[in-house]
Amino acid sequence: MKADTGVAGRSGRPRSVDLPDRATISRFDQPGPRYTSYPTADRFVESFDADTYRHWLGVRTAGAQRPISVYIHIPFCDTVCYYCACNKIATKDRAKAAEYLQFLEREIDLVASEIKGRARIEQLHLGGGTPTYLSNEQLGQVRDMLRARFDLADRGEFSIEIDPRSAPGDKIRTLAGLGFNRMSVGVQDFDPVVQQAVNREQSFEITKESVDAARASGFKSVNLDLIYGLPHQSSARFSKTLDRILEVGPDRIALYHYAHLPTRFKPQRRIAAEALPSSQEKLTIMIDAIRRLGSAGYEYIGMDHFARTDDDLARAQRHGCLHRNFQGYSTRPDCDLIGFGVSAIGKVGPTYVQNVRTLDEYYESLRAGVLPVQRGIQLDSDDLVRRAVIMALMCQFEVSKEAIAAAHLIDFNEYFAEELRDLAPYQDAGLVENTKEWVSVTPKGKLLVRALAMVFDKYLRHDQRARPYSKIV
Ligand code: SF4
Repeated sequence: MKADTGVAGRSGRPRSVDLPDRATISRFDQPGPRYTSYPTADRFVESFDADTYRHWLGVRTAGAQRPISVYIHIPFCDTVCYYCACNKIATKDRAKAAEYLQFLEREIDLVASEIKGRARIEQLHLGGGTPTYLSNEQLGQVRDMLRARFDLADRGEFSIEIDPRSAPGDKIRTLAGLGFNRMSVGVQDFDPVVQQAVNREQSFEITKESVDAARASGFKSVNLDLIYGLPHQSSARFSKTLDRILEVGPDRIALYHYAHLPTRFKPQRRIAAEALPSSQEKLTIMIDAIRRLGSAGYEYIGMDHFARTDDDLARAQRHGCLHRNFQGYSTRPDCDLIGFGVSAIGKVGPTYVQNVRTLDEYYESLRAGVLPVQRGIQLDSDDLVRRAVIMALMCQFEVSKEAIAAAHLIDFNEYFAEELRDLAPYQDAGLVENTKEWVSVTPKGKLLVRALAMVFDKYLRHDQRARPYSKIV
């Protein structure tokens, strides 16, 4: 099975993570991409347009039996959280969502007509924005739009991002009835002072109500999202949030780093920079959190992600078959991903494609019967081999030189001579090993895996521009 990760890792390898000392973290911490794709989205080009996308959807027709993943972006939110860097529209005007769904249906129609055969959806993810901004009827409408044009796999992974403030128990039960079986719940922090400073006031009780309803209605996996680095956070205060998170006991936990980039993300201008924790405090919050989650039985899956030992993600990693996509880590083999809605990103054959970002552009394009593509990229053979290496590092923490050489017809050591030389400081610091057969991230290097992946990123190597990324830690 050829997957985005290129090669499977060694099954049964120890999966522990060791925390490097603070000096090592500070030495190698730097702005870097999150590698949900390679090349990363900032490398997409506008010469990749609707016609190019149509071409690749058509090429897919030959393999119409292959299943697909679908991502749908619902951009609306009731209020804006000040830390947010997503593409969203804060509005109380529900009519906007009804209009949006009409255009979403047009886009689904256009894509389905290009694919021709009836593809089967193995994985569905509703993200945003706030998908639960939609009413129960509208969520049903989305499901029906898909069902009319595609088959929904019986044992598919159907996930949705939940804002408990708009998803009480009865909505969660409706979602289960619509076939959703995984959910990701936005929490960030339960501390009321932090919540107030980021304009997201959400009680422990309503969060627990959503999670309990999910469990009672048969959801297979529940993820809670947390963020460290928010205003007024400290290790002591965040520890109380972790107490409550462990009380809820989700299957997965994502712990993201808040990157304060107010020049890029307007809502962040409402966060007082002086209220942000210092870098040393942030590091303490993160280190303490990793220790706490480890001793509570959560495995460190990879960048920002933790899962219970018996969760599918942890199992997939143990068996060397974890994958990475725009939603983070996944257990499913890498299928073509079709993105619907504003700013949605897809991946079809050797390409990535992204939709336009604004509602006006989206509606205008669909009114004209044109796929609302803003940009994309067609990967060349060098991109493909580097993607395989980077995804293997991100998902399995190791790369088999032989497997990459065989799949891409290269001599690994020769092809990556420069990169292997550049790994030397990381090797000296005990973060990575470079043997005859493997490049392996050590337990101590896992936290800095992004920096190791960056060594294999050709675009960073040849582009000295300021990097528009957040820091690794
Ligand atoms: S964090 Fe989520 S709910 Fe808050 S503004 Fe961003 S997309 Fe909306």
